[in-house]
Amino acid sequence: MENTKQYILSPKEAYEASQRWRIVKRSVDARQRELKVHLTVLTDEEGNPVAKDEVRSTKYEPPAYRDVHEAERKAIIIGAGPAGLFAALTLLEHGIKPIIYERGKEVSARKKDIALLNRNEGLNPESNYCFGEGGAGTFSDGKLFSRSKKRGNMQRVMEIFHYFGAADTVLYEAHAHIGSDKLPGIIKRMRECILEHGGEIYFETCITSLKDVRRSEVRCTKEGDKGQGKELPIILAIGHSAHDTYRMLAAEGVALEAKGFAMGVRAEHPQALINKLMYHLKPSAVSRQPSELIQYVGNASYSLVTQVDGRGVYSFCMCPGGHIVPAGSSADSCVVNGMSASHRNSPYANSGMVVQINPEDLPGDDPLRGLEYQEALEREAFKQSHNLSPALPEREGQRIMASAVAPAQRMRDFVEGRASKNLPPCSYLPGIIPSRLDLWLPPFIGKRLQQGFRDFDKKYPGFLTNDAVIVGVESRSSSAVRIPRDPETLESINTPGLYPCGEGAGYAGGITSSALDGINAALKIAGKH
Ligand SMILES: Cc1cc2nc3c(=O)[nH]c(=O)nc-3n(C[C@H](O)[C@H](O)[C@H](O)COP(=O)(O)OP(=O)(O)OC[C@H]3O[C@@H](n4cnc5c(N)ncnc54)[C@H](O)[C@@H]3O)c2cc1C
Repeated sequence: MENTKQYILSPKEAYEASQRWRIVKRSVDARQRELKVHLTVLTDEEGNPVAKDEVRSTKYEPPAYRDVHEAERKAIIIGAGPAGLFAALTLLEHGIKPIIYERGKEVSARKKDIALLNRNEGLNPESNYCFGEGGAGTFSDGKLFSRSKKRGNMQRVMEIFHYFGAADTVLYEAHAHIGSDKLPGIIKRMRECILEHGGEIYFETCITSLKDVRRSEVRCTKEGDKGQGKELPIILAIGHSAHDTYRMLAAEGVALEAKGFAMGVRAEHPQALINKLMYHLKPSAVSRQPSELIQYVGNASYSLVTQVDGRGVYSFCMCPGGHIVPAGSSADSCVVNGMSASHRNSPYANSGMVVQINPEDLPGDDPLRGLEYQEALEREAFKQSHNLSPALPEREGQRIMASAVAPAQRMRDFVEGRASKNLPPCSYLPGIIPSRLDLWLPPFIGKRLQQGFRDFDKKYPGFLTNDAVIVGVESRSSSAVRIPRDPETLESINTPGLYPCGEGAGYAGGITSSALDGINAALKIAGKH
């Protein structure tokens, strides 16, 4: 248990303190006329604040990765996102050789595909914001949310990020943020470590049958090996966007169940406006930001929630100073999400605005009905944004040359049911076109969002404005499927030896909880197989 002390300071004092001391938690209190900053500061045993430059990284036990080149014990991992990579590193600690299959490319090649996508030069369905080394976590916002002790040792996840190059702040800040400019380097170092110690990673290898992958690994086992003939355990860490892989699992008889999820749009305001609303600045501050204040307290964020007709409507993954990004992985669909670089300094503030959807809201009893619903809406968004250019997408090599332009509407126009004649500037690089989201979003979602924006405006007058734009659709905020598992062994309830984990298994949401889930799956294998 670390010692901490709390302070209430002016923005300038808090800024100066954060240059000197180790800050665990910082929140801006805008309830009074003058902003105050609540700081929780790390202290030593005598109660004195710990200096920022004091080297504390030695305080944790560095991971002891073992050489597994000749290891008898092996495990297959499908997916190299946070769950898969942290599982692999944990297996190394226990002397087990991880064999990783990842459908996407290694991170630097993936970066190029993402650059093409952002320039609207086509989508590679196997290498994009969802698929590739590091998974959805690599080019994400990099907020490391959860420090919940319930699921296990979250601090250990932070230590491992730190070990591979994340800033010291991840060790002590309650709301640490890595930033998508830093994450690729960290992911690359994790890969190098796995390979150096004898793990194997196969990129651009999409697993299309569990049975086949198991068989091929059994065949690979050398004559005379103890492992021969024994099926290897499989850690299934596929994330929530691999709809084809869920369908393969269903076809191979792996138990699946429908799970609640959320869908909606991404909303974007000028960051200056959000700063004004959240920090209660004078109206003139919108056009003339008090740059000193923002330098002291950073760009403002928000977290909003309301209930409309029995369903939660809430902001999700808010990115101050961020960008909206094209986060789809298939042709004929339009999906958006948000991210930010470590400095969080773009002039835009975006956030998912989503409506909770329960399995019983969708007809039928197919466990994959949530996926169908997501896909239908993503296709509709694509269709709506391609009204101006309805030609079917062509392929050029691996890339699908479909435009990633997204449908958008000014926020007030959306709420009041009007077409937007034009749109405000937006961070979404492939571009946006005016569209009647108020008309084509399913009323279950659209009507609730309209009321949700009115509710948020009551809390922060000025939030509902035509200076804000909503972009469609934010459909992949959480998994619509669960792969049920035995709570004790963490194996699939009907497929022994299969360890579903991370976001795609429906047991985690976000980078840190997925990473921890991967660690837990690997620990089970270490204790059993
Ligand atoms: C733009 C964006 C911003 C985000 N921002 C944040 C944030 O700030 N903070 C946060 O905590 N979370 C954020 N998230 C969510 C976070 O990235 C995910 O929760 C997390 O990455 C899930 O980890 P995972 O390992 O379970 O799955 P994923 O990261 O999705 O990784 C799964 C991997 O499996 C691979 N795969 C799938 N099927 C197969 C197959 N059949 N064969 C081989 N490989 C396969 C995929 O290519 C992928 O690389 C964001 C997500 C996005 C898209």
